[in-house]
Amino acid sequence: MPHTVPSAIDHLAALTGYRDRDLLDVTLAHALMDLLAPLGVAVYKLAGEEQGDQRWLLRARIDAGQPTAVSDPPWVAFETLPARESLPHHDASLRRQAVVELGPSPDGQAPQTTTVFPLVAEGEGLGVIEVRSAQRLTAGMKRTVCSILRIYRNFHGLLDYSERDTLTGLLNRKTFDEAFLKTAHQGSGVAATGDGDRRHDDAGLSKHWLGVVDIDHFKHVNDRFGHLIGDEVLLLVARILRSTFRFHDRLYRFGGEEFVVLLRCPQEADAALAFERLRANMEAYTFPQVGRVTASIGFTEVRPGDAPSAAFERADRAVYHAKQNGRNQVCNHEALVRSGVLAPAGKVGDVELF
Ligand code: GH3
Ligand code: MG
Ligand code: MG
Repeated sequence: MPHTVPSAIDHLAALTGYRDRDLLDVTLAHALMDLLAPLGVAVYKLAGEEQGDQRWLLRARIDAGQPTAVSDPPWVAFETLPARESLPHHDASLRRQAVVELGPSPDGQAPQTTTVFPLVAEGEGLGVIEVRSAQRLTAGMKRTVCSILRIYRNFHGLLDYSERDTLTGLLNRKTFDEAFLKTAHQGSGVAATGDGDRRHDDAGLSKHWLGVVDIDHFKHVNDRFGHLIGDEVLLLVARILRSTFRFHDRLYRFGGEEFVVLLRCPQEADAALAFERLRANMEAYTFPQVGRVTASIGFTEVRPGDAPSAAFERADRAVYHAKQNGRNQVCNHEALVRSGVLAPAGKVGDVELF
């Protein structure tokens, strides 16, 4: 067994060397492959709302003899992922927060052993690690995995602490630029995939959209009900955002009462519908004590070579237009430009801004 201390330390260094969660999961799988030399390792995360429909997203899988990891693409269609209950041992491991061992079956049908380790951070079940091996893992090997997972968990917690807004748990502004550039270049049907092309919803066809969401008259909420109630409204708005958008859409709180959504969908009309659904969900929600709270939303298409600040600026101009025209509405920057209401981005009158 290549079970030496230096290689373990190398892996820890690698594991804590990235601030990119995709790389973190792949590095975890590689570390376990090297340390245990099993038949294969897979890292699954749970996607979907905690109380609702949850499914397994493959973050990284490596099989012996295949040096590169495969994973579900970030925009995989949620409905095509395996349901939480369809992998009962994975489900049991996570629910009980315990290591679950399966097989080999006595009839020889499944000659290998599968050991499932829960991935838990801050009491919340994130996913599982599946290790497939010819023999049962020894107690020492299981301890090794558990130690590596403790480090993974601590590091994951640190990432959350630095990348998430403490009030709402949404991503904070700090990681936006990097994610925007990564998303903007994600285009055509690239990326490794777990189980073939059927898992791509619309690979290669999809576009990205950036939406800015600004709560209407939020100052009044604070003035009338106090800051604590104001904070609760922000928390509930974050929850509405999560339930409105799909699991792979990125949701940010940009400070104050302003939220940003990075959305992936094929057509302008789909993006408009998604933002309209958010607007309607906000309007329909009864906030405790406060009652009705609405939002003005502006969105824009992310263009090839777009700068994050330029796209944000366009969406923000659409928000401004919504505010000027009665609030509680969705405005599409490109539609406003087409209809001559707004000047094309970069120009106001004859003045070049960028
Ligand atoms: P508009 O419809 O034009 O957007 O009006 P508004 O009152 O929402 O806009 P404005 O930007 O004037 O005020 C935003 C207010 O949001 C100011 C501040 O009191 C409040 N705010 C900003 N951050 C927080 C926060 O973290 N918690 C609470 N409770 N209030 C916040
Ligand atoms: Mg504002
Ligand atoms: Mg506002």
